[in-house]
Formats: sequence, structure tokens, C-alpha cells
Amino acid sequence: MQKSIQLLLVGLLISLLTGCGNSAPVTSKTPTIITTFSVLADIAQQIAGDTATVTSLVPPNGDAHVFEPTPANGVALVNATTVIELGLGFEPWFADLYASSGSKATRIMASTEVTPLNAGAETDPHIWHDVTNVIIMAQNIRDGLITAMPSKKDTLTANAAAYIAQLQALDRDIQTQIASIPASQRKLVTSHDTFGYFAARYGFVIVGTGLGSVSTESSDPDATSLIRLITAIKTSGVPAIFVENMSNPKVMQQIAQEAGVTIAPPLYTDALGEANSSGATYIEMMRYNVRTIVTALTGTK
Ligand SMILES: [Zn+2]
Repeated sequence: MQKSIQLLLVGLLISLLTGCGNSAPVTSKTPTIITTFSVLADIAQQIAGDTATVTSLVPPNGDAHVFEPTPANGVALVNATTVIELGLGFEPWFADLYASSGSKATRIMASTEVTPLNAGAETDPHIWHDVTNVIIMAQNIRDGLITAMPSKKDTLTANAAAYIAQLQALDRDIQTQIASIPASQRKLVTSHDTFGYFAARYGFVIVGTGLGSVSTESSDPDATSLIRLITAIKTSGVPAIFVENMSNPKVMQQIAQEAGVTIAPPLYTDALGEANSSGATYIEMMRYNVRTIVTALTGTK
């Protein structure tokens, strides 16, 4: 009930703020692209270049699984020419926000054509940790933006081609770096189940996760799950486990202490870092994550 009242308020506030749809024409303004989360914002910005302004609803270091939209987010959608979402259940709040805002923005689903993996009974939405999926996402975003801004087709096509070439190089570099970890040591423990696609692409085993879920909505693990995870960590022989930039590290710190392993520096998982951080862009985030994983699992740089 709280949620429906919240959305009703969003709708009312938008009507007030946008003058009940009688807003001034926006034809001369730079097109605005709104994405649900920061990883999509960076990919969209790389492709849009100077043809559009790109902003993200969920900020850097924010958690899209449990995001609570504000009336200002609804207003942003009304003023947007294009909105980009991931799909696969990653942003459970977005469809309602879009509908209640009355936005007429073109809607792009970035995960179209990506083959989803399951984690237990659920679809795993964390497709961006496999760089080959991001190449597909970049193609979807390019095609969607060309439909929304046909006069910018040449620029968008050229920007996307240059970005996809960088992504192909990134994928090769990750494989080279990962090769320095002996196969028997490619084991990951993270706060929540975010590295399924990374593991599948780059040859890792997921030993377990603190929350045991592909979402961060679940409550803290019970004692039985904790004991099982601690035992699995000890048996696996991993020297370190990982916390995430958008999650509370407390439970993982307790698990590490009990299992007698170290906590590696936080990985960028479901969100980029702030501008000027080592996770400011998708490519920087992936390079940082791989460096951090190699260092933590091998004790070298
Ligand atoms: Zn997640």
C-alpha cells in the first residue's frame, strides 16, 4: 500500500511540476537520455557522445535492486527523450515509475538478445560482468538511439564501433590477466550473487555468497547458512573474500573473521564508483575488479 501511495504522489507531483502536460516545447534542447543505473549511463554516454545528455536514476555506488524512486525521478522521465533500462528483473521499480510518470520517452531494453543465466530458480540480471554481453548491450543502445535520433545515425554508429573495439580489447585483457591465477584458485565469495556471468565467461567457481541471492532484497543470512558458507570458504582454500561497493560490508567482515580469510578491497559490482574513482567508467570498473581479484587470490600484482 505504501508503494501505491508513493506512486500516486509521484504522478500528482509530476502533473503539478510539468503544468499538466502543457509544458513549453523542448525542440531546441539537447536530447536527454535517462538510464536506470550508472553502468548503463556510461555505456549510453560512450555511444551518444555529444549528441545527448545522459543521467542515471540510481547514482554511483547506489543499489538498483532496492532503489526507491522519488518524484524528481518521475519528472526526469517526463523530460527525457529516451530511457534505457536493463531488464531481467534488475530494476523491479522501473515499470511502475515509467507508467506513473506519463513519460513519452522512447524505451530501450539493454538486455535484449543477451542469453540469461539462472541462479537457482531466479533469472540472474548481472549480465554486464561478461564483456561480450556488454557488446550486445552497446549494439541495442546504438540501435535504440538511432531510432530515437535518426539524424545522428552516423555519429552514433561511429561512436558505437569505437566503443565496441575497446570492449573487445577489454575482454582479451581480462582473459590474459585471469590466466595468471592457477585454475584451482579461481574461486569467488561475494556479498550477493552478482558474479555468475563473470564466472561463466572467465572460468571461476562461485563458492558462495553472503546473502545467497541474486538480489540484495533478502535479509541477512541465518545461522545455518552462515555456518555452511564459512565451512565452504575453509574447504575451498581461498585466501580472501570480496565485499561490494554498493553493499554493507558488515556481514562479510564477520564471515571473513570466522573463516580466517582476508577481506579484499571492495569490488564495483552493481554500480560504478564516483567520477575520478577507479570505477568511474565501465571499462575502468572491470579493469580494477580484475586487478583486485588477481591480487587477492594470488597475493601478487
Ligand atoms: Zn545485484
